[in-house]
Amino acid sequence: MSREFVMNTYGRFDVVFERGLGSRIYDDTGNEYVDFVSGVAVNCLGHSHPAIVNALTEQSRKLIHISNYYWNTEHTLLAEKLVENSDHSKVFFCNSGTEAVEGALKLARKYGKLKSNHKNVILYMNNSFHGRSMGALSVTGQPKYQQDFKPLIGGVKQVEFNDMDDLIKSFDENVCGIIIEPIQGEGGVLSANIDFLREARKLCDQYDALLIFDEIQCGIGRLGSLFAYEQFGVIPDVITMAKALGGGFPIGAFMSNERASIALCPGDHGSTYGSLNKLKAQYGVINEIRGIGLLLGIVVDDPKAFVNECFNKGLLVVTAGTDVVRLLPPLNVSQADLEAALKILEEVMEIMSNEVSSVVISWT
Ligand SMILES: *Cc1c(COP(=O)(O)O)cnc(C)c1O
Repeated sequence: MSREFVMNTYGRFDVVFERGLGSRIYDDTGNEYVDFVSGVAVNCLGHSHPAIVNALTEQSRKLIHISNYYWNTEHTLLAEKLVENSDHSKVFFCNSGTEAVEGALKLARKYGKLKSNHKNVILYMNNSFHGRSMGALSVTGQPKYQQDFKPLIGGVKQVEFNDMDDLIKSFDENVCGIIIEPIQGEGGVLSANIDFLREARKLCDQYDALLIFDEIQCGIGRLGSLFAYEQFGVIPDVITMAKALGGGFPIGAFMSNERASIALCPGDHGSTYGSLNKLKAQYGVINEIRGIGLLLGIVVDDPKAFVNECFNKGLLVVTAGTDVVRLLPPLNVSQADLEAALKILEEVMEIMSNEVSSVVISWT
């Protein structure tokens, strides 16, 4: 089978998907699944939404690529939309979340350099995920992603997520930026404390450093507001975004306020949570429910077995951290699909609470 020609870097389910519609997806043998992975928070309007299909079709008939030497209207219109709906003023576009993170890190370095030659330290959180390029990986505080690729870039320092003392201790005048996910997605749907984010804001002002929020997973509507920072009431200097920004088309961006951009020159479904809480009370399977809006994590003893049981029953969900099952439905998920997913989740909890062992297929 031609799979042998693809580099073996991801553990995949043994399934071939052929087409999708809304929050439903179909494999090559005609099985139907409710897709609560959404390409890991990418397909914000589900599969094959006409708005996305039409935009891609129409644009590709006009222009696909023109380089950065020239302007095109759509590019500036999107920047204008993002700025008009935020507290920020300048946008840089790229192709992925990782690149957006790279850009934000470089912006912080350059911002620091304008102030002093020693101002180059970037703080990041343990348990974070920011991407797999060398820079982004260097601020990804999880040994499993970093260990085989050292040495990574210098001038970075890890802070305990939500540990105020560690945050205060780590700051000094050599810090040029700090990168935080308002909700750590990959790391286990762990929300930042508002006080922790406020303190980070305060320290960035005090030491003249840039506060960077990585909203690649939690932004663009997933928490119920366009930007994740709106849920926390703390305004970052720089925001990275990607995933849902393109709805499946690969695009990333970072956006900054006036303060940060001096460094760069030319060069609703409240009911989901409620229903899950009911299931938590009913079955002894869920240890905890985390998250906001449609970025939800359910903490269970054996997330892989849970995800596999869901898969077998036709619901796609994905693990996060070591003990979390992540639910990332499309933002326009229908009530019917939500109920179908909840029914499967309930069936799986019923099975898991009876400790029927499941066949774990090979993925990591
Ligand atoms: C997915 C993700 C990234 C990396 O984005 P890519 O588009 O996959 O490069 C970075 N940060 C966070 C928080 C993410 O969830």
